[in-house]
Amino acid sequence: MLQPPHSSLQVAAVPAQRVAARDRDQDAPWHTEAVCRRDEAGLFFAPSKEPTAARLSREEAAKRVCARCPVMVECREHALLQPEPYGVWGGLTAAERRVVLARRRRREMELKKAARQNRIAAAG
Ligand code: SF4
Repeated sequence: MLQPPHSSLQVAAVPAQRVAARDRDQDAPWHTEAVCRRDEAGLFFAPSKEPTAARLSREEAAKRVCARCPVMVECREHALLQPEPYGVWGGLTAAERRVVLARRRRREMELKKAARQNRIAAAG
């Protein structure tokens, strides 16, 4: 799985000898253009036991960074397709991504149902 471009806190937990291998094997082309690659402020992932007001403020700050990122679309699709369960990716929080995924699933089901009805109508 691709490491988040903004995972400085997680990267800090990776043993040094594994960092180079991780970067070589898992970086996607868009990853290198991420403006959050060095997230020293820790904006993109919640620290443990973060109060709600602090979380909302941090997420808004992260989204402002995403808004000026040249690879926002690629990042968002990556996070939706994995799916990435935590953090802000492509300008969306984890909760917002769940909403997008639920809408996509609903839309897919509607399209399949319509196709099935069309086949039945064509056969009958
Ligand atoms: S869209 Fe946001 S989370 Fe994704 S790479 Fe850009 S700054 Fe990072």
